[in-house]
Amino acid sequence: MRLLEERIQKDGIVKEGNVLKVDSFLNHQMDIALFQEMGKEWKRIFADVPINKILTIEASGIGIAAIAAQYFDAPVVFAKKTQSINLDGSVYSTKIESFTHKRQYDVIVSKKYLSPEDNILIIDDFLANGCAVNGLIDIIEASGAKLQGVGIAIEKGFQDGGKLLRERGIRVESLAIVEGMDAKTGKITFCH
Ligand code: 5GP
Repeated sequence: MRLLEERIQKDGIVKEGNVLKVDSFLNHQMDIALFQEMGKEWKRIFADVPINKILTIEASGIGIAAIAAQYFDAPVVFAKKTQSINLDGSVYSTKIESFTHKRQYDVIVSKKYLSPEDNILIIDDFLANGCAVNGLIDIIEASGAKLQGVGIAIEKGFQDGGKLLRERGIRVESLAIVEGMDAKTGKITFCH
């Protein structure tokens, strides 16, 4: 998606450790007009698929998922990160390794909000090694719901997450795929 790529080129900051900072429009301050265009684009891409619910993970996924949900006319469920997990049988849970914070979280979704009748679109801000998306897929599988696809804003194509998901036959649609980025020069290139 050209609009997103241009914005990443203009305002993205490449940090050491393969981290792309997009705080000025996505991860801290949020450009809602841009999110609307992203939501429309996911709707166009997934127009052929029945989707009645969007699943994301707190915190950064929530804003983009909420705006995208308007175009799908579907509610958003966000997986909650928790440190002290009280497994009383009322939640689906999994462990996710955070790429940016280098630590593990327990992540939960109440059983009330996912069921075998649901057709789910996962939405998240970044795809790197795939831990976050894989954790959400574990939760979907535990609930018996059907995963219809994964919509990512920015995929880092030089990390393995997207490749591994696509090899499993999962439909992953990323609006911008970064092919390479250099913390020293700040240069970012995209795959098309
Ligand atoms: P993964 O689980 O695929 O390794 O990483 C995806 C998650 O880590 C995303 O939910 C996102 O919050 C965070 N993340 C991964 N890489 C980056 C990055 O380069 N920049 C930012 N801002 N977040 C990232």
